[in-house]
Amino acid sequence: MQIRQPIVAVLGHVDSGKTSLLDRIRGTGVQGREAGGITQHIGASFLPTETIKEMCGPLYKKLEQSENKVPGILVIDTPGHEVFTNLRSRGGSAADIAILVVDVNRGFQPQTNESLKILQSRKVPFVVALNKCDQISGWRKSETPFITQAIKEQDASIQTDLDQKIYDVVGTLSILGYKSEAFYRVEDFKSEIAIVPISARSGVGVPELLSVLVGLTQQYLQKRLDQDEKEPRGIVLEVKDEVGLGQTANVILIDGSIKKENSIVVAKRDAVIVTKPKALLLPKPLDEMRDPRDKFKPVPQIDAAAGFKIASPELEGVLPGSTLYVAKNTEEIAKYTKLIESEMKSVFVDTETN
Ligand code: GDP
Repeated sequence: MQIRQPIVAVLGHVDSGKTSLLDRIRGTGVQGREAGGITQHIGASFLPTETIKEMCGPLYKKLEQSENKVPGILVIDTPGHEVFTNLRSRGGSAADIAILVVDVNRGFQPQTNESLKILQSRKVPFVVALNKCDQISGWRKSETPFITQAIKEQDASIQTDLDQKIYDVVGTLSILGYKSEAFYRVEDFKSEIAIVPISARSGVGVPELLSVLVGLTQQYLQKRLDQDEKEPRGIVLEVKDEVGLGQTANVILIDGSIKKENSIVVAKRDAVIVTKPKALLLPKPLDEMRDPRDKFKPVPQIDAAAGFKIASPELEGVLPGSTLYVAKNTEEIAKYTKLIESEMKSVFVDTETN
């Protein structure tokens, strides 16, 4: 079985700390660059296994024993991005798993509920990152990156306070139909949502958050991540005209591979376009960049899961959120064209009847 990286989306109320958490995950990883660290994709950051191992420390031991070890994770960088906020994609959701960020002192807020509704409707599994633990009144700063250890170092009253805040979340989630528990008390990760107290600011709890995420994907998402017999597809994040490149699309490749000689099949507002990429481009690491205009590296092939850029003059007018198919021959071009056309028709019927 060949398993790809899970695509991880970060959702939550504004100011709950989504961006800070992403920065923390990336920042910590940057230190691990020597060991083959983070690479910036378009709209995503790729964390290879080595980096996750380094971040999780001893927690990784258990994950390593899995028969279905994921080759890293792809975290979507743009938490506010429409495509990854509504997570809609043909065949379910563009993300495999999500982190729902909740401010520990504020609990559930309007957009937390909205995010949860989306996760529910797209059937996306998630973990709750109960963020800003360092802001709990009286919280003692400690050196450890592990939240279980940091909690032990708090006064009893602070531990009680945190427990109360966790149970507030458990209560809210239970009204919404979910069973949940602090991750260190979860008995069955399949039926209970894990709540991981963290601080994006200090980084405490991030190792546990990552190891819970990776553990869940390795145990329960194999089928989704298995790359045997998956049709190559991606989702368009953005289309824009770029100096020196012309029309480009930023795409997350969800399954399969794309080669430069393949054709891509994607919908415009009122037509299906079939085009061969002029180039497939990956951002260059900073240390490889001599000229800032020379930001991208043309590559012959991209494998999922990955964020990349396609240059092709025909991409103009493609809408964000569109599914993009990869066709190897004329039969596949015809198949995907038909598929998109029937989808366009059904959208048309929907808007007419509503
Ligand atoms: P977003 O809107 O969800 O992306 O939230 P941001 O990451 O922009 O964070 C909102 C504010 O909360 C910023 O001022 C952050 O510095 C602050 N913040 C985020 N995480 C933490 C945390 O763990 N502890 C503390 N004390 N502040 C945080």
